[in-house]
Amino acid sequence: MSAQVENDARLVGVLGWPVGHSLSPAMHNAALRALKLNWRYLLLPVHPDDIPDAVHGLRALGFAGANVTIPHKVAVCALMDELTPEALAVGAVNTIIIRDGRFTGHNTDAYGFLTALTNAGYAPACRPALVLGAGGAARSVVYALARAGARVAIHNRTPERAHALAAALAPHLPGVSLQIVSAAGLPAALLAADLVINTTSVGMTGGPPGSPLPAGARLRAGATAYDLIYAPRQTPFLRQARAAGLHAVGGLGMLVHQGARALELWTGRDAPVAVMQRAAQRALAARARADGARRT
Ligand code: NAP
Repeated sequence: MSAQVENDARLVGVLGWPVGHSLSPAMHNAALRALKLNWRYLLLPVHPDDIPDAVHGLRALGFAGANVTIPHKVAVCALMDELTPEALAVGAVNTIIIRDGRFTGHNTDAYGFLTALTNAGYAPACRPALVLGAGGAARSVVYALARAGARVAIHNRTPERAHALAAALAPHLPGVSLQIVSAAGLPAALLAADLVINTTSVGMTGGPPGSPLPAGARLRAGATAYDLIYAPRQTPFLRQARAAGLHAVGGLGMLVHQGARALELWTGRDAPVAVMQRAAQRALAARARADGARRT
């Protein structure tokens, strides 16, 4: 009977390199079980050189779609038959839908970020937001905030990348002006911001240590700090923000909601978000224990 189930199962998965650390299989398989769907979500480690073959192979193997993670999110865009406006604006695909042999590239990161932020009680419209970082994740965050009507400023260690990000998004955000904040302007921008978002990898497990905030940075008490990092749960940025009286929110909610949206796109069913959240938390705790055991 179980072999029968395996043979009939619809398949989805996550393309990445490396991808063994991903929380997505735990999160999605828990959701698919809760929905009583005979689907399986697989880890799909693919070297960058092989990504075109792998994407076309998904169609040959009858996959319903896939998630895409680092380092393939940009390369996959060129392999799609069509891109949604979000994927086009962000310049990256994190969810592929395969229907009638055609590939549609979606980006659910902006939705995931905005949903998590709103669930944390923050409404960004007409309020000043400061985005720290200008990498791939920053693009989704800036796009989501600007679309939600926030007044967005961007600061990045390498200013050229912040300017490039603003220029790339400009055609997709008519009437929106994105402010670039220099290192000299950062203290004033931090004090003015109602929302400060860390999209850098600083403070991430295995990433550059510390906080992206300058030493002694002053923040606006009562503001909100959002860290895209979810491992560790408590980052130096969040600790610093909490100590300054800010409402501090970690990045797990964004991960869960981008996944929930992908699941809804594949299956057409409402995602069991609480199930996904619990599964992601459990997988994250197991990963932290395994990392701890390796270090001792
Ligand atoms: P990325 O494209 O490599 O960008 C990294 C960013 O971090 C750049 O702005 C980079 O600045 C900055 N940075 C790196 N080292 C720094 C340092 N020592 N000091 C100051 N800035 C530094 O990475 P990404 O894909 O955007 O991911 C960024 C973070 O977001 C990661 O921690 C990732 O796990 C997290 N993320 C979370 C979610 C979620 O669902 N919660 C989703 C996506 C990403 P330069 O341009 O100057 O190098």
